[in-house]
Amino acid sequence: MAAKGTLTVVSGFSGVGKGSVMNSLLSRYDGYALSVSATTRDPRPGEVHGVAYYFISKNEFKEMIVSDGLVEYAEYCGNYYGTPKAFVEQRLEEGMDVLLEIEIQGAMKVRKQFPDATLVFVMPPNAQALIERLTNRGTESRETIENRIRRAVHEAEGIEDYDFILVNDMIDPCADELHHLIQARKMRTTHNRPFIEHVREDIRKMAADL
Ligand code: 5GP
Repeated sequence: MAAKGTLTVVSGFSGVGKGSVMNSLLSRYDGYALSVSATTRDPRPGEVHGVAYYFISKNEFKEMIVSDGLVEYAEYCGNYYGTPKAFVEQRLEEGMDVLLEIEIQGAMKVRKQFPDATLVFVMPPNAQALIERLTNRGTESRETIENRIRRAVHEAEGIEDYDFILVNDMIDPCADELHHLIQARKMRTTHNRPFIEHVREDIRKMAADL
């Protein structure tokens, strides 16, 4: 009697390496499904439609909102980002551990809809490392980088609203910690009620037959 899959939200400052941690997790462990978000921002060089994001127009995004096709959505640095609902619901039903890599406003909306979701905030080892990573990525303009640093100041105020922090000093160990965290949360009694009840009932029956 497998319990339904879990939902984990992973947030963190722009440039902290969330994407690399996710890739490491997905390439080395089974059972995970990473949701691909819809966004109105332009693709960065190398980003593929349907893999990094579904790159859609503002009108298409509005249609997804109106048709109730998103679990949550938020505006971030002038663009819209949202989590398609069908994928999340299907994968949870299949027992997969679903991962959402989303920003803080979206994370809070997910918490309201899915109170059992685990909210994880990925931290840099220190502030300097974050600025260096953001700048060295080389894919964004100076203006975009500055906007994202200002946004990080605001996001830093909300870290305590998350359940756990992970420090991304090295990618693979950080992904290992995320994996262990998710697997440990699956052992909660609240996540295993049908199984507990099933075994309890069988024990009662066996005791009655003694
Ligand atoms: P980026 O433009 O760097 O890919 O993403 C900008 C921010 O949007 C990141 O913090 C990322 O986690 C967040 N984001 C990506 N997809 C979603 C989504 O579906 N919903 C929300 N609320 N945030 C998202």
